[in-house]
Amino acid sequence: MSTRNKHSAGTTALDIAIIGGGSAGISLATKLKNRSAVVIEPRTPTERDCSWALWANPAQQQQFASSTRGSWQQWRLIDHHSEVLHQTDQYRYTSLSSADYITQCENQLPEGVDLIRAPAEDIAPEGNGGLFSAAGKHYSASQLYDSRPPAMAEQGLKQHFVGWEIRTKSPISDPQIATLMDFRVDQSRGLHFIYVLPFSDRQLLIESTMISTQLEDRDWYLQAMIEWLETQNIEIEETLREETGVIPMDAITPVDSNIACIGAASGAVRLSSGYAFTGIQAQIAKLARGISAGDFTVPAPISPGLIRMDRIFNAVLMAQPELGPSIMMRTAKALNGDGFARFMLGSATIADWARVILAMPKMPFLKQVWRL
Ligand SMILES: Cc1cc2nc3c(=O)[nH]c(=O)nc-3n(C[C@H](O)[C@H](O)[C@H](O)COP(=O)(O)OP(=O)(O)OC[C@H]3O[C@@H](n4cnc5c(N)ncnc54)[C@H](O)[C@@H]3O)c2cc1C
Repeated sequence: MSTRNKHSAGTTALDIAIIGGGSAGISLATKLKNRSAVVIEPRTPTERDCSWALWANPAQQQQFASSTRGSWQQWRLIDHHSEVLHQTDQYRYTSLSSADYITQCENQLPEGVDLIRAPAEDIAPEGNGGLFSAAGKHYSASQLYDSRPPAMAEQGLKQHFVGWEIRTKSPISDPQIATLMDFRVDQSRGLHFIYVLPFSDRQLLIESTMISTQLEDRDWYLQAMIEWLETQNIEIEETLREETGVIPMDAITPVDSNIACIGAASGAVRLSSGYAFTGIQAQIAKLARGISAGDFTVPAPISPGLIRMDRIFNAVLMAQPELGPSIMMRTAKALNGDGFARFMLGSATIADWARVILAMPKMPFLKQVWRL
């Protein structure tokens, strides 16, 4: 039952308020049924457009078709010694336009759910809900959900990147293959790779991605991209847009620990990979089902067992970053395309895990298992 009403003091009372209309917040807003709710988001979708990639199963390929920029049945990882090429019929590595996805969600908000294009301010949590103001109006909500980006540990491991979407002067080879990691770049400052998504034979997204504790100057990432393009004989005709990002791969601190967090703020980013989209979708679907049944508790986005495995992996990377390329190549070689997709999605089978564990250098991992 929707219970929106105006308090005498000019405060609008709501069932639910969602702070932040990004991946988690807007997805939740579209799934609310028979509730009075608002999603509060200051920025337009195009102001924060970026590529959100996932390994999409057939149902997701359909679900996200209208915001899909590109999808690939083949992907590769490369280092100085070898190349692993994966192929799968089950999953497609899929890149969504975040702006298209969010715009569609904003246009599909159910009756009783409104978008407020402004920051949430003066937030005062009270029990599960609280008071806040937005766009000059005052609200109270019985339940608050907060998806504002959490703070990252200054010295914590991060995935950070600078990328360009470019049009090339001539057609590139193998546009049907996504390059997830090409390690043939400077490894002196941490685990570093080039990531390339060809949207067509003349248009691609290229990113210079680091996994380390320290951010680099913009030019450092760009230099790596430019050198990589030269080695591939790819000439830029036009740079269409730039994309940058810093994704936490370590402990995070929510903006306000008194409010129930969803999405990245609730720990939905996989610590070992930086991927979060699929985990957020699963968390939000489960939460929405709970809300329909009267349970407002936010489900944990990632199992404790998987978090522990990811922490061990990251501890190895922190202690011996030079092992990063070889660990990723060994993981890719140990699995076929479906297994690799499951592994990255956090749904690896026992057999997938056994293959990966057998392929790992034992001492660096045992040291960290012991230490953690
Ligand atoms: C550039 C980039 C690329 C990424 N690519 C991938 C990828 O390819 N695949 C993947 O799985 N994951 C990816 N991630 C990780 C993760 O999926 C995203 O960070 C995702 O957006 C997290 O969703 P979220 O809803 O938790 O947070 P967000 O999407 O960041 O949403 C939080 C929202 O809160 C809003 N906000 C902030 N302050 C206020 C306020 N006071 N009031 C109201 N709203 C406020 C912000 O404007 C923002 O829109 C990427 C992250 C980044 C940064």
